[in-house]
Order: sequence, then structure tokens, then C-alpha cells
Amino acid sequence: MSKVVKAIRGMNDILPDQSYQWEHFERTINQWLAMYGYRNIRTPIVEQTDLFVRSIGEVTDIVEKEMYTFVDHLNNDSLTLRPEGTASCVRAVVEHNLLYGSPQRLYYSGPMFRHERPQKGRYRQFHQVGVEALGYPGPDVDAELIIMCARLWKMLGITGLRLEIGTLGNVESRALHRARLIQYFEQHEAALDEDARRRLHTNPLRILDSKNPKMHGIIESAPKLIDDLDEESRVHFETLQHLLREQGVNFEINLRLVRGLDYYNRTVFEWVTDRLGAQGTVCAGGRYDGLIEQIGGKSAPACGFAMGVERLLALMLECGEEIPQSFPDVYIVHQGETVTDYAWKAAEFLRHEGLKCILHCGGGSFKSQMKKADASGARHAIIIGDNEVQAQQVTIKPLREASEQASVDLQAVVALISKDCN
Ligand code: ATP
Ligand code: MG
Repeated sequence: MSKVVKAIRGMNDILPDQSYQWEHFERTINQWLAMYGYRNIRTPIVEQTDLFVRSIGEVTDIVEKEMYTFVDHLNNDSLTLRPEGTASCVRAVVEHNLLYGSPQRLYYSGPMFRHERPQKGRYRQFHQVGVEALGYPGPDVDAELIIMCARLWKMLGITGLRLEIGTLGNVESRALHRARLIQYFEQHEAALDEDARRRLHTNPLRILDSKNPKMHGIIESAPKLIDDLDEESRVHFETLQHLLREQGVNFEINLRLVRGLDYYNRTVFEWVTDRLGAQGTVCAGGRYDGLIEQIGGKSAPACGFAMGVERLLALMLECGEEIPQSFPDVYIVHQGETVTDYAWKAAEFLRHEGLKCILHCGGGSFKSQMKKADASGARHAIIIGDNEVQAQQVTIKPLREASEQASVDLQAVVALISKDCN
């Protein structure tokens, strides 16, 4: 026997017993995005490495150690599997001049790739749905993005999520804050771990995001950005809070919220749950007013977020949400040569009438076919034998309830099943 080829570690197959949950999620997402007028954008999964280095930032976990980067040996280009969607979305918007004339409400969805240690809720290929509002200065659109999340959680049957919001201020107040942080951490250099020391002069804000418990004390007493905040950012943050309160969306202010990507300014937010263990952030985003210009476009403000599909699905199940599964309406069992022709016609007729219909393939006894009908989850079996063909009728047998089987014509099958559905 040949050696078995397996999937890559941290990259999962989504099998039929789970994919119906994904399909339900995707249907809900599409309905939800249409409610708010966001339109779909689809970009390639591979981009020039430089795009992510420039946008996400050189001294970030993603760029330093999580990217799948490789050389295309046919032309020596350095390429990277996208670790997130915002950079690609902005690249496409700039490249195709989409912001000429009007702002854009956009969304994307699909796989992202990060070389992390695989564990529950953390994979090397995972999926995100991302929503981006480009060309809007906010804070109205910042509030819209957060409020629409709150609606989605309801649509998905998810409860108990906590919303944390924060602000990073504008470029100047961030620079001021950065300088004060460097000064502070320099004074406490002995208490810094290796990661923090390395980031001290390149990305001191990221030190605030340290997961090392030994660092918590020193981080707790570090200077807070709110004290260095510029007036415009302060008003922006206040207005956002007002809009959220007006809509009854609860939040906590977290002034230590630092996102793992460099491009954010002003509003940042995360939706967090305690029900998924360590991987509790299911959705995160913020404002990135400088990114479009940084990628070579004409300066324009923007705000967006991305959610992790695997974590949201896990949370839906954790919340006890029953995800509807689609079963066939009928499974047709049949035997005999002339019978088979009639069975094919019957199946196509029922499909034409809008029923979901499996026609048994591969022969076998009535008994074994009935077993397959039962296992298919179909609500009814339709039995066709010589007698049925002669009478131009079929026998319909309910599989999920104790009612009697009956001989009816095909039109009656349609009526019966449609009646059952209502
Ligand atoms: P974390 O702190 O968990 O590493 P992050 O800040 O790196 O998350 P973002 O880049 O903000 O994550 O991505 C948005 C969302 O995508 C996350 O909130 C999470 O739900 C999901 N996500 C990120 N990385 C992974 C991964 N490796 N596997 C599964 N989901 C992920
Ligand atoms: Mg991460």
C-alpha cells in the first residue's frame, strides 16, 4: 500500500457533518450584510509579501513569526499567504480606485493563514469574515460596525459576549504616548521579559499586550494613552460611546486594548467570551485612517473588523444553538428495469416541483435500499416497483413519523410534502 498523505497540521478539513453548520453561518452572514448594505469583495489568497509587512507592521507577531512566506521560484518574487484580509482589501480598493467619488462599505470572507501553534480555537488555516467601511471619518460608521455585530450575535443565537472598546488617539498623540512609554519601560527595564526588551524601542505599545503574567504589574502602572489623547480623538471616542448607549449596546472601556496589527488609530474594539477558554476573542477591529495612504492610495479614513468563523461556530454550539440541517424530502427506492426509467422520471419531476430528492443508485434489495433511505435523513421514502409503474402511482412511506404508507400519484406527493412543510 502507498503511504497515506495527510492534511497539513493546523489546517482542517470541514466534513459534511460540520459543513452544514458553516452553510447556515454563511447564509446568516449574507442576510445580515445585505441588511446594512455591505458589498462583497474577493481578493487573491496570495499577495506580495511587502503588502503585509508594510501594513501590519514589521515588529508584530504576525510579520515576525506567523506568515507563510515563500519564494515563487519561477520569477523569484517573495509571496505570502494572506494572514488577514484588510491589507488585501485596501490594496484592491487603491488599485482599482474604488474610493473615487464615493466611500465604500465592503466585506470579504475566506481562509487566512498564520503559522501559530495549533490548539483549540487556533489554527494555521482559519476563516474570517471581515467588514470594512472605507472613506468614512466616523465616529458614526464606527458605531454602525459595532452595532451590526450586536445584531449578528442575536441572529446567530450567541449570548454573553463582552464588548471592549478603546482608543489609540491620532498619530501625534500616539507618538507622544510612545515616547512616554519608552521612558517608563526604560526605567523598569530589569522587570521586562525578552519580548518586551526587544520591542522597547521598536513597538513599545505592543508590550502592553503582553500575555506574560509576570509583566502585568508593570503594565498596570504604565502611562495611559487617555492622558495623552488629542481633543479630536477624545470627542470621537465620546460620540462613539454615546451612539452605542443610545442603541442599548453595552460596553466596557479598556484603555489597554492594543491590537496585534500596527495600522490602527482612534477606535479599537474586541468582542470577547469566557466560554471558549484561552481563545476568547471572536471578533476584533478598529479604525485605520493612515493605511490607505501607506499602501499608496490617496489619504482616506477607514474602519473595519474581522471575526473568526471557527470560534464563532464553537460558541454557537456552546450556547446551545440548534443549527438547522437540511435533509432530503424524499428518497426513492426502486427495482426492475422498466421501473428504473419511471423512477428517474419521477425524481426529475419532483425536483422540478422544488422537492429535494435522492434517487437510489447502485441497485440492491428493497430492504437494503430502505436502510439507505432511513440513513439519508429523508422525511419520506418513495417506493417504486412493478405494481406502481403499472398503476402510474408511487407508494409514499413516512420515515420520521408513525403514519401509514399510501399509494398516490406524483402530483399528490408534491401536495402532501408541501403541506407538511407549512
Ligand atoms: P489572538 O489574540 O487570538 O491571536 P488576533 O488579535 O491575532 O487574535 P486578529 O488578527 O484580530 O486576531 O483576527 C481577528 C479574529 O480572527 C480573532 O479575534 C479570532 O477570532 C480569529 N483568529 C485569529 N487568529 C486565529 C487563528 N490562528 N485561528 C483561529 N482563529 C483566529
Ligand atoms: Mg494572534
